[in-house]
Amino acid sequence: MSGLSGLPLRDDLVGEEPYGAPQIDVPVVLNVNENPYPPSGELRRAMGEAIQEAAATMNRYPDREAVALREDLASYLGNGLTARNIWVGNGSNEIMGQLLTAFGGPGRRMLTFTPTYSMYPEYARNTCTAYVTEPRNPDFTVDAGLVLSAVEHHTPTVVVITTPNNPTGTCTAPEVIDEICSATDAIVVVDEAYQEFSRHPGALPLLARHPRLVITRTMSKAFAMAGGRVGYLAAAPEIVDACRIVRLPYHMSLQTQVLARVALAHRDELLARVEELAEECRAFQGWLQGHGYEVVPSEANFVLFGRFKDRHSVWQGLLDRGVLIRETGPEGFLRASAGTPREMAALKRALAEINSEGRHP
Ligand SMILES: *Cc1c(COP(=O)(O)O)cnc(C)c1O
Repeated sequence: MSGLSGLPLRDDLVGEEPYGAPQIDVPVVLNVNENPYPPSGELRRAMGEAIQEAAATMNRYPDREAVALREDLASYLGNGLTARNIWVGNGSNEIMGQLLTAFGGPGRRMLTFTPTYSMYPEYARNTCTAYVTEPRNPDFTVDAGLVLSAVEHHTPTVVVITTPNNPTGTCTAPEVIDEICSATDAIVVVDEAYQEFSRHPGALPLLARHPRLVITRTMSKAFAMAGGRVGYLAAAPEIVDACRIVRLPYHMSLQTQVLARVALAHRDELLARVEELAEECRAFQGWLQGHGYEVVPSEANFVLFGRFKDRHSVWQGLLDRGVLIRETGPEGFLRASAGTPREMAALKRALAEINSEGRHP
């Protein structure tokens, strides 16, 4: 019998490292675009009570189709959507994995526009889907011409447009999505993880016209539920059915479904901070500009800024001062999430100190 060396790992996984942002315990955490506000005491009590009640049926499998949660999400999204248009997963990363399992796979391609979310290549790799990219415009926008010529060139079955885009915060207007969907047979996935923070309209009203359009959302950011792991999509029922084929049975635990429904019932409280965080983010962009940084205009709860000769030393300098942000995006840039006023003050203070040491930009 052979030991652990030479495990029969898939050839394409040999040498790969588990990926993810560093989870470091520091006073100011602004690196993964979480909502900095924990649930209120009243909401925590409601969650506890709902879990206690649900625990009475923990011996049974949960609702495989998560119908009640999908109904709640449909009513949150409006636009004439029903539970048949909604699918849920453990974070939108699971949703994306299911979409690629159903519509990607060996011999097929997924197309994205860089710089964009660093998890997409992982979803592609795990589902044996080829990952192809085209660069965004110099201002990090995409237009229909750019997308459609890339589609013609790469012939993907899945195209992902992230709006607001991570890590740039750049939006893509519904008119552009509309034009793209009208001109391709590919599945067009619009990742709206940060849509609640944006002042620009999202793509939901387009669903009625485009049967191959999929809009993904998450409760991790605006809903302050990153720990709950709830992502979802809105699309035609046929797309939902495709995800139902490839999902693992009972993929959404009883407690996840219950907690997500409590959160949705308290959405006024949870979403109340969204406007505040968006405003905090805009104020920070103004501050950065005023201090001579290059800022990518953002409609999300984070901002990409630079341009640093040595971004790693700035990142490290911030960490040394108890502020964790993200070393991501194009060379020379860093990304910081919007936090509480106190956290933003700490970030600005730390940046100013580093600046006075002559390390910027
Ligand atoms: C944070 C984020 C998500 C959400 O991920 P979850 O798995 O739902 O926590 C999806 N897309 C983008 C671009 C993100 O930045």
